[in-house]
Amino acid sequence: MIVVLKPNVKPEQIEHLKDWIHSLNIDTHVSVGENHTIIGLVGDTSAVDIDLINALDIVETVKRIQEPFKKANRKFHEEDAVIDINGVKIGGGNFQIIAGPCSVESEEQICSIAQSVKASGAGLLRGGAFKPRTSPYAFQGLHATGIDLLLEAKEQTGLPIVSEIMSMEHLPLFEHVDVLQVGARNMQNFEMLKELGKINKPILLKRGLANTIDELLMSAEYIMASGNENVILCERGIRTFETRTRNTLDLSAIPVLKKLTHLPVVIDPSHAGGHAYLVKPMALAATAAGADGLMIEVHNNPEKALCDGPQSLTPAAFAEVADLVFKIRPYACTYNEKI
Ligand code: PEP
Ligand code: MN
Repeated sequence: MIVVLKPNVKPEQIEHLKDWIHSLNIDTHVSVGENHTIIGLVGDTSAVDIDLINALDIVETVKRIQEPFKKANRKFHEEDAVIDINGVKIGGGNFQIIAGPCSVESEEQICSIAQSVKASGAGLLRGGAFKPRTSPYAFQGLHATGIDLLLEAKEQTGLPIVSEIMSMEHLPLFEHVDVLQVGARNMQNFEMLKELGKINKPILLKRGLANTIDELLMSAEYIMASGNENVILCERGIRTFETRTRNTLDLSAIPVLKKLTHLPVVIDPSHAGGHAYLVKPMALAATAAGADGLMIEVHNNPEKALCDGPQSLTPAAFAEVADLVFKIRPYACTYNEKI
């Protein structure tokens, strides 16, 4: 971090600032120019409040040289992280498709979808039991029953399961859920992120509707700083002025994240586009761009789905997309070398 001081700052003011910085266990390197004095902060500045320094009377500007995230930073972990989900690996060249309905609706529904997506090559089954709906009158999920049905589908197919947790009070229900999903709306629920950092289960962290890539990485950092480094990032579309699509899929998030972090990156073309016809082109583009995985909503009867039917693929349409994805996957961009 570099702190540029205003002209004519008195030596005792500089000493005072240096003393304060040293009290944070950070060294300083002072360079006195004709007009400005510059203080370089040497050491781990991730805990330094840049706004606080910026607000000081004697400070003209402050610039971070190093990103404020450490655990999630590729600079400190050159090798891609490989997240092992009870034997199913993602990251570091391991590619997975997570498929399943938006919400678990019945045993017949989840088990038949699980069988068909498995047959098409999905490595994990998704299904919401607790649904973050915009309207309190919309279907909220089957809650504990939904988890039980997911576990039944897991038992029948052997597919590990991914499901969204919306409150830490529900954690005991998720004991046998393999991956806990933090939905877009909870990406900055910092207390929840801290708690999820204390458990030893992979976390699929979705990017918030209106959050930057840096904010996504800081949220990953929350989980990792509390002790859980098994984080998978998911880009699921962000809000823009465009209304033809539910959100705008930020495909460039793939190379940007790959440059900044070693964590696996999954793309969710279903929530990004909001329409089934957009899933195939976006899934293929994301695969070509080097995503480590895809999350795709599949329903055996999209017209009757209790949630997100318009963006859900039928099992047959999913089979076609998965087949194409696996065909182009060998030609996908890789990011092993320094970007
Ligand atoms: C979901 O995956 O079911 C979901 C609600 O996604 P998001 O949090 O990205 O809206
Ligand atoms: Mn959904």
